[in-house]
Amino acid sequence: MRHDALNQASRILLTILLVAVGGIALLMARTAGFGLPDASGLLPQAVVGAAWNDQVALISGHAGNDSGAVCEDAAGNVLLTEASINATVAEQTARRLRRAGADVTILDEYDDRLRGLEASVLVSIHADSCIDASGYKAAVHTYSQIPETSARLLACIDQAYPAATGLPHHPDTVTHNMTEYHAFKRIDPQTPAAIVELGFLGGDQALLVDHPERAAKGITDGILCFLEGESAARQAAEAAP
Ligand SMILES: [Zn+2]
Repeated sequence: MRHDALNQASRILLTILLVAVGGIALLMARTAGFGLPDASGLLPQAVVGAAWNDQVALISGHAGNDSGAVCEDAAGNVLLTEASINATVAEQTARRLRRAGADVTILDEYDDRLRGLEASVLVSIHADSCIDASGYKAAVHTYSQIPETSARLLACIDQAYPAATGLPHHPDTVTHNMTEYHAFKRIDPQTPAAIVELGFLGGDQALLVDHPERAAKGITDGILCFLEGESAARQAAEAAP
């Protein structure tokens, strides 16, 4: 009798131990980036050392102000707004960056917190008009006081965004609205900043509406590429005699 009870107790203990070890292994695997892919086949974001505690600001384009570009039917009913796309992608980008370890704030288009904003990076998220065109665009301030840093940010976005979305660069339509974007003039001039047009509400609607997670991954990867580059440059500068 007593022997049976002991046997049962040790079996229970062993089960608890196995579950605990399995749980710890799963947690470690996820942290290292070996999580299960989500419905769209994207792996969850892993922790990125260079992003740890970095302050990242995202502008959810047109939020708190207007709808931005719209798609309408023949009767003039609004079917899709740019602001809703921007908000979804900003939210998903923030989630991915937080998993990487960054401290992320989502701002409105004319957020009071933009004045003198100090952050590791600011990216404003917009989308283009409802026309039958395809492609994304990214721009930094024409009169940036940190032109080399801005160029590195732009290069990272131009590398990561098309890789994640499959969208081509659409350079012909980068406007003064982008290169002299209002937020560029309000933030601290030492804060690296870019504005991205995710794609066209018309020609890229399938991606923007059905797979915003791909756009979010593109923005996230671009930001992480930039933060990793800056971190490596800082370490190299510190190591230099
Ligand atoms: Zn816009």
